[in-house]
Amino acid sequence: MGCEKFEFLISGLLDRELDTSQEQMLRGHLRVCEKCRRKHEELLRLKEVTDSVRFKDLSEEVWAGYWKSIYRRVERSLGWILLSAGAIILISFGLYESLSQFLADPEVSLLVKIGVSTLGLGFIILLVSVIRERIFAYRRDRYKEVQR
Ligand SMILES: [Zn+2]
Repeated sequence: MGCEKFEFLISGLLDRELDTSQEQMLRGHLRVCEKCRRKHEELLRLKEVTDSVRFKDLSEEVWAGYWKSIYRRVERSLGWILLSAGAIILISFGLYESLSQFLADPEVSLLVKIGVSTLGLGFIILLVSVIRERIFAYRRDRYKEVQR
């Protein structure tokens, strides 16, 4: 078997793609062929260098960008959660104020009061959610216009 075939096996070995018999065959050849042994060492060093470069890139720029985008996303969602919660609380308070007479009325059964309150709260949450969705859609549309 010619050395070209073994060069192919050398890259296979470095990529951990060889089965046991192929690896044994190659190791046997490397023991007797200095040319292929040098080739193997050369490729091994090259692989170590490219691996370390790749790792360095990942650890510095990519990771920095990754954490920055995670942080931005967390910050944004926290902002939206607080904004929504605030809106829900304020609107609920307004609703409670306007319903306070109804809620304080001893003639109305507790179940109906709970029902009306739950209904109102659900309506408010949906309202805030829809408004938020409209804002997102509006920003997306504006972005599309800019792109045109
Ligand atoms: Zn050889």
